[in-house]
Amino acid sequence: MIIDGKAIAARVRAEIAEGVKAVVGRAGMPPGLAAVRVGEDPASVIYVRNKIKACKEAGLGSFEHVLPERTTQEDLLGLLSRLNADRRVHGILVQLPLPKHIDADRVIDLVAPEKDVDGFGPRNVAALTMGRPGLRPCTPSGCIRLLDEAETPLQGARALVVGRSLIVGKPMALLLLERNATVTVAHSRTRDLAAEVGQADVVVAAIGRAELIKGAWIKPGATVIDVGMNRPSRTC
Ligand code: NAP
Repeated sequence: MIIDGKAIAARVRAEIAEGVKAVVGRAGMPPGLAAVRVGEDPASVIYVRNKIKACKEAGLGSFEHVLPERTTQEDLLGLLSRLNADRRVHGILVQLPLPKHIDADRVIDLVAPEKDVDGFGPRNVAALTMGRPGLRPCTPSGCIRLLDEAETPLQGARALVVGRSLIVGKPMALLLLERNATVTVAHSRTRDLAAEVGQADVVVAAIGRAELIKGAWIKPGATVIDVGMNRPSRTC
């Protein structure tokens, strides 16, 4: 069975649009999302454009801030301080990666925890780790939604997360643990990835390299979520 991500995404967007209408009815204004991009990384240009488009379609307020590659750290931190204080802005996304001369940790640390909709800041990471309420990172939360839509039993299931980034792998493992799965995290130093995959009822792959996990490794009946955004290499 193929999990139809596009159909599920359309349902999520419709739910959000309903939620936005309810907020507008109560508060008289929509929640607003500010997206900040520094430089012209081609993938980032597309991601931010899509986020702004999705906001508009859902009726959310959106504020796009595009800064040149040469922006100084102080200028970026200044913008974030202003967005933290802006009452029209309820969520702030800083598109990663940032140019090398900018200290991404300082940027992530400055976003107000209640506006840190990516859930990358220390307060929200701690909340996830401690099982407290907080903003959860969107990509792994989306994976949980896909697993739920596919009616994948998670309680007691053996779940394997391949990848241990702050953005996907680590929060994914914690969200699966929150759902009572028995979680293993594999990474580039894992000794026998095929054996780990072969035992898993649920595999979430967030590696950044296509076709690293072979279909033959997957346990029959297992559920697989491929987070990777990469094209398989083609030989002509
Ligand atoms: P990342 O920071 O580059 O992390 C990749 C992870 O894969 C690392 O933990 C690395 O292990 C592990 N890895 C690399 N080679 C491996 C190997 N041979 N065996 C086992 N593990 C290996 O990437 P990321 O930010 O987590 O993103 C992962 C993928 O998800 C990318 O393709 C990205 O484009 C995609 N992504 C998609 C979405 C979405 O919304 N769909 C969102 C974010 C990211 P080490 O830690 O040991 O180096």
